[in-house]
Amino acid sequence: MSHQNPFLSTDQQIVGDIYTSTEAMDNLTILCDDFGSRFGGTEGERRAAEFFKAKLEEYGLSNVHLEPVEYIGWTRGEAKLEITSPIRKVIPCISLPHSPPADLEGVIVDMGDGAPQDFHRRADEIKGKMVMTTSVVSPKGSKRWIHRSEKYGRSLMAGAIGFIFVNHYPGYGPATGSVGHSGEGLIPGISISKEDGAFIQRLMKREGEVNIRLVTTDHSQPMTSWNVIGELPGRQDSDQVVMLGCHYDGHDISQGAGDPASGAVSVLEAARVLAKYVPTLPCTVRFALWGVEEIGLLGSKGYVKAHADELSDIRFYLNMDSAGTQSNGRDIVLNEWPDLESCFERWREEMALEFAVGQSVHAFSDHFPFFMAGVPTGGIESAERSLAGRGYGHTRYDTVDKVDLTSLREASTLAARLALRMASEGTWPVTRREEKAVLELLDSPEYREEKEFREQLDAFYEEARKQQG
Ligand SMILES: [Zn+2]
Repeated sequence: MSHQNPFLSTDQQIVGDIYTSTEAMDNLTILCDDFGSRFGGTEGERRAAEFFKAKLEEYGLSNVHLEPVEYIGWTRGEAKLEITSPIRKVIPCISLPHSPPADLEGVIVDMGDGAPQDFHRRADEIKGKMVMTTSVVSPKGSKRWIHRSEKYGRSLMAGAIGFIFVNHYPGYGPATGSVGHSGEGLIPGISISKEDGAFIQRLMKREGEVNIRLVTTDHSQPMTSWNVIGELPGRQDSDQVVMLGCHYDGHDISQGAGDPASGAVSVLEAARVLAKYVPTLPCTVRFALWGVEEIGLLGSKGYVKAHADELSDIRFYLNMDSAGTQSNGRDIVLNEWPDLESCFERWREEMALEFAVGQSVHAFSDHFPFFMAGVPTGGIESAERSLAGRGYGHTRYDTVDKVDLTSLREASTLAARLALRMASEGTWPVTRREEKAVLELLDSPEYREEKEFREQLDAFYEEARKQQG
C-alpha cells in the first residue's frame, strides 16, 4: 500500500521538468570539455567555480558567493621510474598528488594488495625499501575499503622510502589519487599500470632483487581554491538548514566526468528545479560545490572550520559525490543515523521510488568533515558498497562519454525530492552529535582499525613535521 504523497504536484513538476531537459548533461559537458580536470590550481578550476556561481544566480538562488579556501596545492612534474638492476628498463609512471620531489635508489618490496596485517607482519622487510602495492580495495577479503592513503601511510610508518601504486585494472594505465596529509607527503608516491606491475613481479620472481631509481619533480605550494555556495532561504521563523553538496575538482590526468562532475551537476539541477517550483520552504536549502576534495577534502574541511558556530543548524548534509554515474546506485546511505531511517523509508513510499536505505560511513568524501563535527550526514550512493574498486575512476578514462543522462536525472530528482521533504518536515528527529559520541561510534569493531590507523598517522606526521621544523 502506498502512502499519501503530500508533495505530489511539486513532485510532478520536479520530475517532469528534469526528465524533459538536457540541462544536467549540457552542464557536465561544459565542465569537462571546456574546463578540463578542474584540478586544484588550474585555470579550469577557477572557471568552473565562476560557472557554478553564474548558474546558481541564473537559477534564482540567493546569497550566491565563493568562499576562498587556502591550502597547500600541488603541481605535477615529470616522474621517472627506472629499473637499474638486474636489467635496465624505464617503466612509464605518474606521480601521485602531494608526492614530494625526490631522487632515490632502492630495492622494491612487493606488498601485494596491501593488507593492513601484512604491513604489521612484514614491517622489517619494508624499512629502507620501495613498497609496491596494488589498488585492490579489499585485500585478503577485508570487509572495509583499504584506501590508497592507508597503504601509503602504513608504508611510511614502516620506514619505506618510496611508494609504487599498481592499478589492479587491466587497460586503464596508472590510477591516480592523493598521498598527502593536508599537504605534502613524506616519501615519493607514483603509480604504474597493472601490466607494468606484473612485469616487475615476474622479474622479481625470476631474478630476485630488483633495484630501481625513482625521480619525481612535483612541487607543493600555498594556493587558493573556492567553495561555491548558494541557497533558497527558509521561512523567517526557522534557522534550520538542509544542505546538498558535491566537489567539482577532478584529478589532473582526467576529465573527472563521473567522479565528481556527475554529482556536481546533479546538485546544480536540484537547485534549478527547487528554485523554480518551491523557492521558499520552511527550512533553508543550501547548495555547496566544494573545491579541492581530491587532495584531502580541503574545501569541505575549510567550510566546517569556517562555519563551526553554525553547524548545529544543519538538519542534514546530503553528499552527492559521483552521484550520477551509472555504476553508483541511487540509494541513500546514512552515516549511522538509525533514527532517520524511518523518515527516508516513509519518503521512499510516498515518492513511489525504489531505493535502499543503508547505514555506514567512510572517510573519503566531503560528508566526512561534517560527520566528524557531529552533523547528521549521508549520501546518494550504492547501499551495498562494492569492494571492487574505482574502475576507470581516477584514470584518464573517466570521460563525458561514460556518463548517461538517465543517471543524472535519477540523481537530480532524488536529491530535489528529498531536499523538499527534509526542509518541510515538522520536527527533525535527530540533533548534532557531541564529539564524544562521534568518537565512540568510530570505536566500534567495524571502524576501530581505521580510526587507530588515522590517529597513528596523524601523530607520525606531527612528529615528522616538528623535526622538519
Ligand atoms: Zn569524488
